[in-house]
Amino acid sequence: MTRFSLFARIGGASALCALLWTAAGASQGFDPSNIDPSVAACKDFYAYANGGWIARHPIPPDRSRFNGFDLIAQRNEELARRILEEAAANPNASGDTKRIGDFYASCIDVAAIERLGAKPVVPLMAQIDAIADPRSLADELAHLHDLGFGALWTLGATLDPKDSARQIAFVAPSGLGLPDREFYVRADARSEQIRSAYAAHVAALFRLFGDAPARAEEEAKSVLTFESRLAREQLTRVAARDPNATYNPMRVAELAALSPHVGWERYLAERKLAQSGAIDVTDPAYVKALDAAFERPALPDVKTYLRWRVLSQSAPSLSNPFADEDFALQRVLSGEQAPLVRWKRCTRLVDRLMGDALGRIWVERSFSPAAKIRVEAMARSIREVLADDIRTLPWMSDATRAGALAKLEALRALIGYPQRWRTYDGLTIARTDYWGNVRAASAYDLAWSLGKIGKPVDKGEFGMTPPTVNAYYSGQRNEIVFPAGILQPPFFDPAADDAINYGAIGAVIGHETTHGFDDRGRRFDAEGNLHDWWTPDDAKAFTARAQCVIDQFDGYATPEIPLNGRLVVGEAIADLGGATIAYRALERAQKRRPKTTLDGFTPEQRFFLGFAQYFAGSARPERTRTRALSDPHPPDRLRVNGTLSNLPEFAEAFHCQAGDPMVRPAKERCAIW
Ligand SMILES: [Zn+2]
Repeated sequence: MTRFSLFARIGGASALCALLWTAAGASQGFDPSNIDPSVAACKDFYAYANGGWIARHPIPPDRSRFNGFDLIAQRNEELARRILEEAAANPNASGDTKRIGDFYASCIDVAAIERLGAKPVVPLMAQIDAIADPRSLADELAHLHDLGFGALWTLGATLDPKDSARQIAFVAPSGLGLPDREFYVRADARSEQIRSAYAAHVAALFRLFGDAPARAEEEAKSVLTFESRLAREQLTRVAARDPNATYNPMRVAELAALSPHVGWERYLAERKLAQSGAIDVTDPAYVKALDAAFERPALPDVKTYLRWRVLSQSAPSLSNPFADEDFALQRVLSGEQAPLVRWKRCTRLVDRLMGDALGRIWVERSFSPAAKIRVEAMARSIREVLADDIRTLPWMSDATRAGALAKLEALRALIGYPQRWRTYDGLTIARTDYWGNVRAASAYDLAWSLGKIGKPVDKGEFGMTPPTVNAYYSGQRNEIVFPAGILQPPFFDPAADDAINYGAIGAVIGHETTHGFDDRGRRFDAEGNLHDWWTPDDAKAFTARAQCVIDQFDGYATPEIPLNGRLVVGEAIADLGGATIAYRALERAQKRRPKTTLDGFTPEQRFFLGFAQYFAGSARPERTRTRALSDPHPPDRLRVNGTLSNLPEFAEAFHCQAGDPMVRPAKERCAIW
């Protein structure tokens, strides 16, 4: 639950084809034609470093954003597709290879999917219709949750935030159709517009299912009212950033006392968790408010809501009219002009639901042992630099310093792929039952995850699949994790010089490493336990430095992009720390080698060009606004300009002067490390 990634999981889309990747000139390391020389580096470094790249890479119609990450993701996806097509075409495939081949084949078989129409969901919809009382509501909800449908809440497994050697159950709010509570509570014109588009979308899907138009309208109203009520009761994203606020372990009896009508004992027994021990309730006020939904007068609205949840979450795997209507909402929220082509949807789905079976083959073909060794060495050097920095930080007392160094010492780096691959024994995948496969794989995955409760922790486990172009830090595991998918050129190139590698993948390693000490990460100790190891004065000094970053990013908010400094502060701190520490690691590495100028750029300049090229790209305005309300990561442009304008090293490398837009005045400059 406490995972801080480099990027929020990308909702829609990839694009372009492998041919275009080559045609665009996939340079290793850094390509000088990415630069737009008409922009001054000290005025807008993002536009300077990336203008050429951006001009060559317009956003494809099926994407809401396209940046350097997406270009790599696209290549990774092409390889995944080849693996899946080979598995599907191989009559001798067995075990998990046969499963992923059949899964992919069932998804690609559009004719079979069209023939079925809405039929696959009819039995579930009928079961919901048959709910007659709060007892049968709890039973049916347990059944839907087992199948992987999100409604009202999520029940999952997590490491106990205060005892990271234990795996416990948690209950967290879930089940809104729009991306965040803010979409239901905000009164501005754009929010109103999105809500009315959402209501029209709900009615359209109910009509497609076969409900009469007048009934579908009523159902849409009911769903919007019901979800708005749920949304108002949820913690805001900013409030939920405080891990102490979301840690509320309870016995089942306490949970039952909080919302007696829910029938928690019955629900947990249905989910085979009656003896689960403590359950971490992340948002008790929300769970308390849920009680009213389980009283008899609320039943008709809850049933409509549950039918909606089944229908909307099934739509992408039903026939085209349903999938198209699903995309219609996506278009409003993110601005894509066309849905993803079929093979990409199918590849992503298998990656999401059977990631280790696909990833195992994917890694064999794309990630060398030499690359793993080189990245491990970089992770060590960055950790050493951060340790040296902590040893000399003027604002940190010796007591806190000792805790920070112990935490850094215990930090583990997982590079490339998991130590043990998961298998999918017992999962039944049918070659001609796409919707059924999605449900079966979702249910299997969920059961696997819940099966961890009460068991020892697997230290080598990855929370992202190998082809993923992302990375994360886990506070509860105190580990940084880099899937092989991100350790690819141009971000990481074993053949490229240090300057580019440190600016690109080095800054990512620094980003994840310093997450251990951001506004949330610092609350976990070396063992991954939520425990305050900071002296009050040091906590105050840190908070003042974090406030500088909050103020800086609040200053970028506009009516179109309602950026919230308190939402993005953790990521902005990690970006700042990552760039700072990786730069020092480069300086250290350079002491051992002669400094060379390449393409007319010094190593220092190339470091910052490497950093900026990560975020080269464009995003549609719909997406940017949606993300500002729901994503803890700032927009790409600010991740570059906001970060680098704090660094004197950047100003020095490009000879920027006081007063230049890329140089924040000395008294406003933010620095943590
Ligand atoms: Zn991050």
